[in-house]
Amino acid sequence: MGVPLLDLSGQYRELKEELDTAYFETMESAHFIGGSKVKELEERIAEYVGTEFAVACGNGTDALFLTLAALGISKGDEVITTPFTFWATIEAIVHVGATPVFVDIEPRTYNMDVSLVEAAITKKTKAIMPVHIFGQCVDMHPLWDLVDGTEIKVIEDACQAIGATYDGEKAGALGDAACFSFFPSKNLGCAGDGGMVTTDNKVLADAVRKLASHGTSKKYFYDAFGTNSRLDALQAAFLLAKLPHLDRWNSERLEAAVHYNYHLKDAERIEMPLYRDYGDSVVHLYILKAESVEVAQTIMAELKRADIGSALYYPLASHEQEAMSSLADYRQPKLSVAESCDGTTFAIPCFPGITRAQQNEVLEVILSALY
Ligand SMILES: *Cc1c(COP(=O)(O)O)cnc(C)c1O
Repeated sequence: MGVPLLDLSGQYRELKEELDTAYFETMESAHFIGGSKVKELEERIAEYVGTEFAVACGNGTDALFLTLAALGISKGDEVITTPFTFWATIEAIVHVGATPVFVDIEPRTYNMDVSLVEAAITKKTKAIMPVHIFGQCVDMHPLWDLVDGTEIKVIEDACQAIGATYDGEKAGALGDAACFSFFPSKNLGCAGDGGMVTTDNKVLADAVRKLASHGTSKKYFYDAFGTNSRLDALQAAFLLAKLPHLDRWNSERLEAAVHYNYHLKDAERIEMPLYRDYGDSVVHLYILKAESVEVAQTIMAELKRADIGSALYYPLASHEQEAMSSLADYRQPKLSVAESCDGTTFAIPCFPGITRAQQNEVLEVILSALY
């Protein structure tokens, strides 16, 4: 029968009425950029995440870039992050002129190994950028302890983790600022690109807002070189219609992940993900790790034959990417856990509304490919 990796059209079928209304209302209002829908979304997201402020922008990549730029992070500064992330995390650091400093990851959660961060701190370190990868929060307490009493900022890349919790708080409220993406395939996705920065720091929120709007202090007067990174009213309207359903969707993802883990716990030659008990993952992606590239290829080929979606995340860690060699003085670190994921970690279907029958179909193919 086949199972897609992600079923986005299912979301539209479920919310057709609300989304169509959002579309028609926005078209009739003829207010397309910024405006009341964007303001309302900012308020709702701040409330949802638990921060004082939320500032909308064009996409998650810009959210990262604008936050770093608003904090004044630039040439000569270092930002400590993970190599196991979507490339945008690294791009944002490089585009403000700073240098990404990579620490290795933990097996099975694939998150930054926070025990390695202290040794990576230098006089040049201006920020630590944990990425809540695949929807599970990084272990934040050790990071808070490290930056306590220093000027080092903690910026969450929460693009995959909207709704995830850590020790009773939500992703997005766990650092000095956090960045979200509303790319269609994210847990809260719009019908195009969108992003958001959350923070409790008013000065930072104002600075992000200003940079996102050409460095404008007053219309046609500029006291900074900013950019154009705004959220469309249409996207805000779609996101407002979807937000009330996010928690349910996230728990459907987690339930599906728990079902997979239960049935794969004794499987040999593959490793299932570990969900830490300090909070709830929103399972942006459910990731399996094969013991070798060959085993991953075999499983993925069998899934493909059964018309079941799967994809490598991520086929090559960031510190090994060709672009890194164009940075002056870049010396590629040896990060063996991250490197062991090259070509071996892959996502299988796990989305809101996936049925038990669909999951069992996926499990059957994987288990028979292994034995
Ligand atoms: C999606 C994503 C981004 C970038 O978001 P866009 O909206 O696509 O620009 C950044 N970091 C991570 C971890 C992501 O998953």
